Amino acid sequence: MKYPKLLEPLDLGFTQLKNRVLMGSMHTGLEEEKGGFEKMAEFYAARARGGVALMVTGGISPNFRGRLAPHSSQLSSRRHVKKHQIVTEAVHKAGGKIALQILHAGRYAYHPLSVSASKIKSPITPFTPKAMTERMIQKTIKHYARCARLAKDAGYDGVEIMGSEGYLINQFIVKRTNKRTDSWGGSYENRMRFPLEILKAVKDAVGDNFITIFRLSMIDLVDGGSTWPEVVQLAKEVEKAGATIINTGIGWHEARVPTITTSVPRRAFTWVTKKLREEVNVPLITSNRINMPEVAEEVLADDCADMVSMARPLLADPDFVIKAEKDQRQLINTCIACNQACLDHVFKQQRATCLVNPKACYETELVAQPLNFKKKLAVVGSGPAGLAFATEAAMRGHEVHLFDRAKKVGGQFNIANQIPGKEEFYETLRYYEHLLEETGVHLHLETEATPETLSDGFEEIIVAAGVLPRTPAIPGIEHEKVLSYIDVLLHKKPVGEKVAVIGAGGIGFDVSEYLVHEGESPTLNLNEWLKEWGIDRLYEDDGGLLDKPEITPPARQVTMLQRKETKMGKGLGKTTGWIHRNSLKHKKVTMVTGVNYKEVNDEGLTIEYKSSGKTETLAVDNVIICAGQLPNRELATQLEEQGFKVHLIGGADVAAELDAKRAIRQGTELALSI
Ligand code: FAD
Ligand code: NAP
Ligand code: SF4
Repeated sequence: MKYPKLLEPLDLGFTQLKNRVLMGSMHTGLEEEKGGFEKMAEFYAARARGGVALMVTGGISPNFRGRLAPHSSQLSSRRHVKKHQIVTEAVHKAGGKIALQILHAGRYAYHPLSVSASKIKSPITPFTPKAMTERMIQKTIKHYARCARLAKDAGYDGVEIMGSEGYLINQFIVKRTNKRTDSWGGSYENRMRFPLEILKAVKDAVGDNFITIFRLSMIDLVDGGSTWPEVVQLAKEVEKAGATIINTGIGWHEARVPTITTSVPRRAFTWVTKKLREEVNVPLITSNRINMPEVAEEVLADDCADMVSMARPLLADPDFVIKAEKDQRQLINTCIACNQACLDHVFKQQRATCLVNPKACYETELVAQPLNFKKKLAVVGSGPAGLAFATEAAMRGHEVHLFDRAKKVGGQFNIANQIPGKEEFYETLRYYEHLLEETGVHLHLETEATPETLSDGFEEIIVAAGVLPRTPAIPGIEHEKVLSYIDVLLHKKPVGEKVAVIGAGGIGFDVSEYLVHEGESPTLNLNEWLKEWGIDRLYEDDGGLLDKPEITPPARQVTMLQRKETKMGKGLGKTTGWIHRNSLKHKKVTMVTGVNYKEVNDEGLTIEYKSSGKTETLAVDNVIICAGQLPNRELATQLEEQGFKVHLIGGADVAAELDAKRAIRQGTELALSI
């Protein structure tokens, strides 16, 4: 067996878990949708069939005030039980186990009825919470117990008490948010009382033979967060109070340190769980950026924890565990930690799904139509759109020929993976390379597709030819100091010390990130990364933060420019934009908005400030163009003129606001119906 530690059962005494994989809690948005529980049942059942030992639902509030948003789910009365049974029955039928997460949002609630330990507004929500009265506290503890009891009645195998990420329980635990002077505030014993009383009440309500997970914030990553001795003390008390398992929480939502995005090194925080392992005997789960079986195996072999929590990796591939069992890691569709279709959607009140797996949370909707007759199909372009289409269409039984003029598949992903912090994009390419083989797609690399190449009896042609970089009409654009992002990232043309980047979309940000780094990417060097984000591995102070980040000086002096007067990076991901901005600020990148480009000349780039009309010449060695893209449609037009039946997907269809999420989804949708 390739992953003996990961696949080893865990005996909890009253019940067994079949392996060491916990699917961590993720809000899907289905919780609040009409008919959502039926869809959720299939979502979880698919992961149970895929071999996950134990899953945790998205956070469900124990009462009205604890809801995350006005229409968020709560489990507080018998009438809520029935719909949860749809989920638990489906999971049990599929051979899995599932626990309900009880989450009271406290001051993170996005509604005016929010409550907290004290009346202190969070920096990430617009509402000031009401400080809870003694009566409210006592009632809330009862509500947790009632919720757990109802979860048991609904057939859940356990509950997870959400005590981390800065939600209500965390707000009681730390001085930052708890300024109370009664018996719930002040000393640490008092601040710990709330979680411990909740845990005791829950245990009384559900008994011993029911999995009770406590998610404990092991490193808050905010000033005024818990100290390490406090974390240990709480964990010992939680163990004493009878929790079955302690799960790891990393960072509050308001922390200005990235904890799960793609630039966070793999297993970046497992050392914290390991530190706690020396202090307690209760099984521990570790978490964050564990996305491949070998990473999980290594974490367990290093004695960091008894189980690993993976959430997004199981959105990306429901069959992750089974593939690990069958030694098929090459066929795992790896989570690239982009957040683009999961967390970004949830924060925009949209249903979560996955960039690399658009079927996630659409299990009952994105299904293949029956194949009436097999077609011979040509696909032009092996970027994300072409790859998704080709493999899915071949799986349905079509004969698929995939053409690309490049030496390898992947299209722009071969450029994206050059960016420090985007190394995960290699995994998507590895996955598709193996899937192409597995599904029998006929691959024609280094082959220019033309109406002639495609005249070999193809019934339909799918043009996934991507995009062409836009060249803005700036006087002097032909100057030798002007480079495109492709020149820099793909062709590795030399770049000088001082650089202006024209365009501040996703690619402008990525190119700037590339230019300020030299040598090894911090994402591949944990200690360097921890220092750059100000995380103290010695955990000497509260919250686990250093006094200030220790930044390696930038490799170049970069100025980013855009014509719009709006904030730079506004169009970046909802949950990741701040990370890109902060990362570039750390490297002293200058961001200039509201300019017109007047000329590129021997001196540099001359710009005009829209607000004042003043001009300035930036003395730069190179000007790098990241000014968006246009659809690559020429071939499609020629084919249509010659009477071929053509479908356009990805960038070749629409280049504006194109991303890999849309490219893959469009490719998949067409393949399921063609
Ligand atoms: P492409 O990836 O452009 O692929 C088109 C393919 O068609 C190419 O391989 C090309 O060689 C081939 N081709 C074209 N014409 C012919 C022909 N006539 N014959 C044969 N072959 C042909 N997106 C995200 O969602 N998240 C990100 O974080 C992200 N980061 C990025 C970072 C960078 C630096 C870059 C450049 C892009 C990034 N993107 C990101 C964008 C993403 O890569 C694109 O949206 C996606 O690749 C578009 O997919 P596509 O299949 O439409 O086209
Ligand atoms: P983009 O997001 O559309 O940005 C284009 C930039 O070029 C804008 O800043 C725009 O700003 C500027 N611009 C547009 N026309 C111009 C012109 N004629 N002259 C000068 N400047 C011009 O496109 P992109 O950066 O090329 O990215 C392409 C796609 O890849 C994006 O849609 C994005 O979703 C995806 N991507 C995503 C990520 C990610 O992290 N999620 C990363 C990289 C790429 P002004 O008009 O204000 O000047
Ligand atoms: Fe992972 Fe991105 Fe999919 Fe979210 S959308 S599960 S981060 S690959």
